[in-house]
Amino acid sequence: MNPVPERVKVAVIGSGQAGLSVAFYLRRFELVADEDFVMLDRAPGPGGAWQHRWSSLRLGTAHRVNDLPGMAELGLSFDTADRQAPAREVVADYYGRFEEHFDLKVHRPIDVKRVTNDGADLRIEFEDLAPQPLEEQRTRGFFARRRRTFVEPEVHRGEVRTQFLVNATGTWGSPFVPYYPGMSDFQGRHLHTSDYLDAESFRGQHVVVVGGGTSAIGFMLELEHVAAGLTWVSRRPIDWLDRQELDLEGASAAVALQDEAARSGRALPSVVSGTGVPRSRRIASGIERGLLVARPMFQRIEPDRVTWPDGASARADAIIWATGFRPELRHLAPLKLRERAGGVTVGQGATWSDPRIFLAGYGPQASTIGANRAGRMIARQIMAML
Ligand code: FAD
Repeated sequence: MNPVPERVKVAVIGSGQAGLSVAFYLRRFELVADEDFVMLDRAPGPGGAWQHRWSSLRLGTAHRVNDLPGMAELGLSFDTADRQAPAREVVADYYGRFEEHFDLKVHRPIDVKRVTNDGADLRIEFEDLAPQPLEEQRTRGFFARRRRTFVEPEVHRGEVRTQFLVNATGTWGSPFVPYYPGMSDFQGRHLHTSDYLDAESFRGQHVVVVGGGTSAIGFMLELEHVAAGLTWVSRRPIDWLDRQELDLEGASAAVALQDEAARSGRALPSVVSGTGVPRSRRIASGIERGLLVARPMFQRIEPDRVTWPDGASARADAIIWATGFRPELRHLAPLKLRERAGGVTVGQGATWSDPRIFLAGYGPQASTIGANRAGRMIARQIMAML
């Protein structure tokens, strides 16, 4: 891999669905990777957030990944992908082939720490997390030979300056867990969705699942015959839909809510609050057999249980917080984009306070189909200004 260039026209941070889509359109406008634009990603390999998701997650259950623009050129489609293989492997494989085919030259693992103003440019400061060869050691002896020793990632800092920034960092790195009294005294395991690996590690345990979205429901279904006891709690009553899948109207309403919040600089609402939960066959059967019945939120966490105001309690060896994510924007803090209302003002992917900065995959674009749209919209705006 080439070193990260010193200065580019466009820097894209993140190579998930949103970053790849932007890069595809930049290439279409004949920009060249590592000359005109650069892609930086913290993860060890392709796949965006999907590479970190739990192994039991399959495409085609609750999860549908839309094809990236240009993917047909490779003869690939997620619609015909292997549904028995873990989604994280399929997506990582397809994204990897996409990067190679369009010669996107993603630099990884590059963790962007800070973006600051540097005159008319933006300066991106990063840490290169790749294990570095310590030194070439010559072992003296009968046969002098070279031995390369690799060490734990050392901090190797670097920077790149850019005219335009596309931030496509998703939400996976910014899990949200609400506070409840007694949390720190809990003797069991606290886990967030992003920590969940598989059901097996909960065998024989009493588990409390918190959250009203598809992740919480997925965990309940997976743990049903594994955990010794299961309790499901949600802050709001679940808004079950009569349909098996989210229809266009429901999806559009949710996107409109996200768009309205983004355009007015408010914190983004949860996606499920705008859509409701479709009652697929698997879910309907879980409701019928009494598994998918959410209790209201508990009031307090005790060392070995959760308790409600009426004195009721449920034993807990583990609490899984399926309570969502927030946009990962910490590295942009020096740019002071955040409004008092709690969000960043963004319309059509462009931040309204700084015409050089775009947020791809933010708010109404936070789905694989929205991320695709973001790519075209953002690349066009940048090309018009270059
Ligand atoms: P990501 O895929 O998260 O990519 C962001 C990239 O940025 C990552 O590779 C990360 O390494 C990198 N990055 C982050 N911070 C930095 C940094 N500081 N420096 C360098 N790199 C950085 N959407 C759907 O359409 N269908 C689904 O079925 C679906 N299921 C979902 C299931 C779960 C559990 C969750 C949490 C979300 C799901 N989504 C789904 C939404 C999904 O997140 C988006 O659809 C899409 O995958 C997000 O793409 P992205 O490119 O915006 O972000």
